Amino acid sequence: MVDSRTPPEVDRVEASRRAVAARRARAALKKDVATRVITPQALLERALAEPESPAGAMRVTEFLTSIPAIGEGKRDRILAELGISPVKRLGGLGARQRVDLRGFLDARWPETAPRRGRSRLLVLAGPTAVGKGTVAAQIKSHHPEIMLSVSATTRSPRPGEVDGEHYFFVDDDEFDRMIAAGELLEHATVHNRHRYGTPRAPIDEALAEGRTVLLEIDLQGARQVRSAEPSATLVFLLPPSWDELVDRLVGRGTEDDEERARRLRTAKVELASQFEFDYRVVNDDVARAADEIATLVD
Ligand code: 5GP
Repeated sequence: MVDSRTPPEVDRVEASRRAVAARRARAALKKDVATRVITPQALLERALAEPESPAGAMRVTEFLTSIPAIGEGKRDRILAELGISPVKRLGGLGARQRVDLRGFLDARWPETAPRRGRSRLLVLAGPTAVGKGTVAAQIKSHHPEIMLSVSATTRSPRPGEVDGEHYFFVDDDEFDRMIAAGELLEHATVHNRHRYGTPRAPIDEALAEGRTVLLEIDLQGARQVRSAEPSATLVFLLPPSWDELVDRLVGRGTEDDEERARRLRTAKVELASQFEFDYRVVNDDVARAADEIATLVD
């Protein structure tokens, strides 16, 4: 006789498969918060909008400890202060608890509001391998009204790269001369290897004509532009998730463990700088991200 209280084997297999998938989805979300790919506020919003989703099913304890700088002791004090039971899931928070938790997060981790009076000088930066180059190329081909700045570099051209179109390929002496003559708006050594810099003159001309100018440069360069031109509009390109960035960074796994660990450490440091930027744009789809950036200064 079949015991009606025991679910059939297939159902149990299916249920355990679903439980594993849900746990994985929650773990991925926690990593996204821990690495700052998404803000705690964004995760809370998702959870409240869809209580049945992996975000909604996350326990408030797991949520809090995924936030950098919150350990278990601090977590318990926060929960006691907010009057939230540790067994609560985000999707099951009461109305009062939602408001209190959101207020607590906003006070500790204010989300940067875009600053006013931004200029048409757009700077696109982001972590290594997030796809800045692809997004910039998409803007160049689909938004011809925007001028994409051509940088000078000391690295050699790759096959298919054209001098004056992709980069101005120069030697070290010429790069030194450009710096000494004040011809570069910013310059940096990228990945400890080659030097890259943004020629100032073409940018000044395009801005004087009322055009929007886009610089696709590294983080050090973005910081230099901010101090040289405080009104520049700084955009940080984010990966859709931490796991996706890891795939792009170490995808084919051809690096050794040390190199892999080094890249992941760098990515975490790079992601932590996003709050210095005026806007954060998620590269979930190249065309969509490019359109969003192109309309920021309209
Ligand atoms: P690649 O050599 O692959 O074309 O570019 C390597 C890196 O150099 C990219 O992260 C790109 O953003 C950065 N880069 C390109 N041009 C400039 C520039 O003019 N200034 C700075 N600071 N970084 C640049």
